[in-house]
Amino acid sequence: MGSNVAFGLLCISFLYCIVLNILFFFKKHINTRETKIFSILLISNLVGIILEISCILLIKGLGVQNILAIFINKLFLLYQLFFTFIYFLYNIFVIFKNELIEKREKLIKGIIFLLFILSSFLVIILNIKLENSDIGCYSHGAAANIVYIVAGLAVFIIMLLLIININKLKNQRKRIISLMCFIIGAFSISIIQKTNPALVLSTEMETFLIFIMYFTIENPDMKLINELNIAKDQADKANQAKSEFLSSMSHEIRTPLNAIVGFSQALLEEDIGGDAKEEVKDIVMASNSLLEIVNGILDISKIESGKIEIVNTEYKFRDIFDELVILSKGRLGDKPLEFKYSYDNSIPNVLYGDYTRVKQVILNILTNAIKYTREGYVDFRVSSIIKDDICRLIISVEDTGIGIKQENINKLFSKFERLDLDKNITIEGTGLGLAITKKLVELMNGKIVVQSVYGKGSKFTISIDQKIIETQVEVLEEEKEVQEEKPIDVTGRKILIVDDNQINLKVASRLLQKYNVITEEVDSGFLCIDKINSGNKYDLILMDDMMPKMSGVETLKKLKEIDSFNIPVIALTANAIAGMREKYLNEGFTDYLAKPIDKGELNNIILKYLNK
Ligand code: ADP
Repeated sequence: MGSNVAFGLLCISFLYCIVLNILFFFKKHINTRETKIFSILLISNLVGIILEISCILLIKGLGVQNILAIFINKLFLLYQLFFTFIYFLYNIFVIFKNELIEKREKLIKGIIFLLFILSSFLVIILNIKLENSDIGCYSHGAAANIVYIVAGLAVFIIMLLLIININKLKNQRKRIISLMCFIIGAFSISIIQKTNPALVLSTEMETFLIFIMYFTIENPDMKLINELNIAKDQADKANQAKSEFLSSMSHEIRTPLNAIVGFSQALLEEDIGGDAKEEVKDIVMASNSLLEIVNGILDISKIESGKIEIVNTEYKFRDIFDELVILSKGRLGDKPLEFKYSYDNSIPNVLYGDYTRVKQVILNILTNAIKYTREGYVDFRVSSIIKDDICRLIISVEDTGIGIKQENINKLFSKFERLDLDKNITIEGTGLGLAITKKLVELMNGKIVVQSVYGKGSKFTISIDQKIIETQVEVLEEEKEVQEEKPIDVTGRKILIVDDNQINLKVASRLLQKYNVITEEVDSGFLCIDKINSGNKYDLILMDDMMPKMSGVETLKKLKEIDSFNIPVIALTANAIAGMREKYLNEGFTDYLAKPIDKGELNNIILKYLNK
């Protein structure tokens, strides 16, 4: 009777185990440590059931002395050991994982492996007795006892771990249930087997355990994961499309802006009537603000898509400082505002960092200080702390402006966040400046902090570490005043302008008019090459890049193939995003000028390449 019950249960377990195998292996799952161990347990249990069925059939059919029956029974005991060790491993590394265990993973695995080999060796050499009585077919003896001892020890250790870790497992109810089933099952099997040795229920118990475990393993749905991956890909593509759209839009906006800024700047220098002059000034201001907005949107989208790179080169910080002082003074307008500045002469002469970005972040906080201060002063200070070959630049801008409410300080660096609008509604801005500043400072591994008293003023401090290239400190005159526009005499020099857009050609030549230079215009790279090939001599070439059929970069390459060619070529482009200067210099251009052409920058180019 007992034997029939055991055999019946075994057959049911066999079916269950097949179903579980099909369910688990046919559903796609992620390969984690947990699923790997679980699949080993699942397959080994199926093998175990087949072995146990074979044991019973062999004892019944060939008798208890048969060598094959003894061999298969020993194999079955080995399976029991294998299952016990793998199950133990699963509990240790998946359920009770903690730092101590993780750190000693290799050692623990080694010990478990050694114990498995040792106990398997004992099972192989020790004797086994097979029984075929009325109550059923089973094995006993020293070899079987080894399996009982190992299983008993495993249950004991798992119980101990459960008690120690009970607090950590509180949120894992499913796992506790699975462990409790195991412990209760193991105890009941020992009692049943004591009273009825033929009722070998361990394999069935293992199937039951695996069945419970199946519902506790973390097996995220593959379908859901695939859908998430597709959604992520789509979002990435949309984001990329957005960035590309913004970049081309910025380029498209810059081209007409180039005409507006260029012609209005040129008009300002003409002798036009009082009212008209004021209106032209407003056009210049408005187009500059529009340009700032376009640049800001482009910058933030580039930063967010991770496309902004910090391009480090050797530079003189003093140059940035001087440029910023000129720019800031120019922005004071007619406000009763004093612009104070101080430069720490111990700052090394040549540093290594991103010149453009360092300048941009300081300009942002200087511009804000001037924008949000009606009267009093703006104090721009730069100092440094030097350690080994690193110079920590400490840049502070203090103002006596409207200040920032304490509760708003946290919002300051969020994009599109403009504070205290009732007070500064008349001040133009997009709320992008500080978001960009903070991100750029962080990209350069620096820090930005704000102190502010509402109604009294604010102080923004930026610290950025830069590598020192040349320690020698420049000896500077007390007050190295900004170089105001020097008279430039380049009369009669010849400049070739290359641009496919007729308005851009007109703007550039209009802006160059005041220098009394001779300008020639061509609207393609081919014509430019023709001009040079036919022996025309120029002192400078201003070359657009994005031209149809042959780009500026390609034209330059072709020009450089001409032996005698040695004219400086300036990239003149609306492609003004970060890193473009470096890109064009790397392509072989002598210098770079962004469109819309800035009067001051054009002046610098003329000064540098023609005023010799
Ligand atoms: P924007 O100036 O274009 O509005 P910013 O990101 O540069 O954008 O600044 C965000 C907000 O922080 C501003 O709208 C202003 O309310 C506040 N803010 C920035 N700098 C100052 C300052 N120096 N004094 C007072 N408020 C400031």
